[in-house]
Amino acid sequence: MKEIRTRIAPSPTGDPHVGTIYIALFNLAFAKKFNGKFILRIEDTDQTRSHVTFEKNIFDALKWANLHYDEGPDMGGPFGPYRQSERLSIYKKYADELIEKDKAYRCFATKEELDEMRQIAKKTGKPSGYDRRYRNLSKDEIKKRLDEKQNYVIRLKVPLTGECIFDDAVKGRVVTPLQDIDDQVLFKSDGFPTYHLANVVDDHLMKITHVIRGDEWISSTPKHILLYEAFGWDKPIFMHMPLLLGKDGRKLSKRKNPTSTFYFKETGYLPEALVNFLSLMGYSTKDEKEIYTMQEFIKNFDPTRIGKSGAFFDIQKLDWLNQQYIINTLSEKDILNKLKSWQFNDEFFQKIIPLCHTRMKTFTEFMELVDFMFINHLNYTDELFTPKKTTKDEAILILYTFMLLLEKQDILNSENVEKASHELSDLFQTNHRKIVMPLLFAAIQGKKFGPPLFQSVEILKKDRIRARLLMAIEFLGSISNKKIAQLKEALEKKDLSSFIKPKN
Ligand code: GLU
Repeated sequence: MKEIRTRIAPSPTGDPHVGTIYIALFNLAFAKKFNGKFILRIEDTDQTRSHVTFEKNIFDALKWANLHYDEGPDMGGPFGPYRQSERLSIYKKYADELIEKDKAYRCFATKEELDEMRQIAKKTGKPSGYDRRYRNLSKDEIKKRLDEKQNYVIRLKVPLTGECIFDDAVKGRVVTPLQDIDDQVLFKSDGFPTYHLANVVDDHLMKITHVIRGDEWISSTPKHILLYEAFGWDKPIFMHMPLLLGKDGRKLSKRKNPTSTFYFKETGYLPEALVNFLSLMGYSTKDEKEIYTMQEFIKNFDPTRIGKSGAFFDIQKLDWLNQQYIINTLSEKDILNKLKSWQFNDEFFQKIIPLCHTRMKTFTEFMELVDFMFINHLNYTDELFTPKKTTKDEAILILYTFMLLLEKQDILNSENVEKASHELSDLFQTNHRKIVMPLLFAAIQGKKFGPPLFQSVEILKKDRIRARLLMAIEFLGSISNKKIAQLKEALEKKDLSSFIKPKN
C-alpha cells in the first residue's frame, strides 16, 4: 500500500498563526494514525512578504507545540529541498512542460492592458478581468515577441466549457463551472512561480497523498485539480478543515483576537492544553471525551468525524482546559519549574530590573511596578482612558491606530515604538504627553504612570501588546469592521483628518 504522506505548507509572512498549529495537528494525526509521514514545506515564493525570522518562528512554534514533522527545511528528507525558494528551477521546467503540451501559454499583457481589462470587466459586471487575448497567438507572433525580449507570464489554458468536479473528503462534492475560472497565472515574469503552480508541483513531487488544509483554500482547489489534469498526474485526496472563527463569527483575525502561537506561549498556556483545545475545533470524539493526550488523539482519530462548519475559538473554553491540565497533569514541583521557564527566570528579570532600579523604595514596590508584565487582565477604569476629556471613541481610534502602526514593524524595539507614539500624536494632531502617553500607559500597564513605556512594550513583545490594545478597546466599546477599513485607508494616505473632531 502507498505510504500516507501529509504536509503543511505555511508561508513565512507573519506571526506563527495558531491556525498553522491547528492544521499541523490534524495533518500529523492523520499521517501517524495510518503510519505515514508528516512534512513541513515552507512556501516562500512571495519574496516581498516572506522573511527568515517568520520562518524560524514557524519552526519554533511547531516545536513548542510538540508537533514534530518527519521531513522539513531544517532537517532535510528524501524529497527536499523543502523551501520553495530553493526549488525555482523545478517550477520553470514544469511550466514549460505545460506550454509544450499546449495546456499553458505565454501571456504578454502589459500592466496597462491588464488595468484596462479590469476596468472593462468592472463595467460589464464580468467576474474575470483577463480576456484571454494572448491565448491563441501564432507561433510566429510568439517568436517575434520573445525575440524582442518582451516580458511574459505563463497562464493555464483553462477549458472554456464544462465543470471541474472534485470530492472533498470533508465537505463533499464541489462543482465549479469552468467559465468561472480565470486563466491562472502559473509563472510570473520575475522568475517566480505562483502559489498554485508551486503548491501542486511540490505536492506531486513530495508524493503527498492527502492535502489537509484550511477551508479558506477550497476556492483554489478547482485550479489545482485542473493543473493535476493538465500534467496528467494522480490527484491527492483533499480535506478542507473548518475555519477557526472569532467571537464575531468571522475567520479568526489578529486584528480582533489573539492569533499568534507565541501569544499563548507568552501568556502562560501549556502547549498540551492548546493542542488538545485545537483538536476539539470542528472535531468530536465518539465518546465526546474532551481531554486526552496526543497519543490518545492519534490512536482514536477518525477523519470522518471532522465537521463541515466553522469552529468557534472560545478562549474561555481554552482557559478551562488549561486549568484542567494544570490541576491534573502538573505537580507543585512541575508548576515551579514551568513558572521558571515561563517568566520567573534570570533572563526575564534582567530585562525588567533596569526599568525599576531607580523607582522603588522597597522590593514590594518592585512588584507594584511590574505587575502588568505578569498578568493579562488589567484593572481598566473609565478614568484612565479619558485624559483631558478625551472621549471613549477617540481613545478607541487612537489605540487601534497605534496597533496598526506597530504592525508595520517586524520586531518591536523601544525606538520604533517611541517613533510610532509620536506619529500617533501627529496623525491625530493631539498632545503626545497629555493624551497619547496616558492612553498608552492605560492600555499597556493599566495605570497612569509606571516604568518606561516604550521599553515595556519591547519586553512584552508584539503579540501581547496587540492583545492588550484589543482588550482596552473592548473595555471601551468596540470598533466596527467598516471603521477599521476606513482607518486603514486613511492611514495609508497618512491623513486622519476625517477622524479628528474639529476643535472649537
Ligand atoms: N502557502 C499556503 C499557506 O500559507 C498553503 C496552503 C495549502 O496548504 O495548500 O497556508
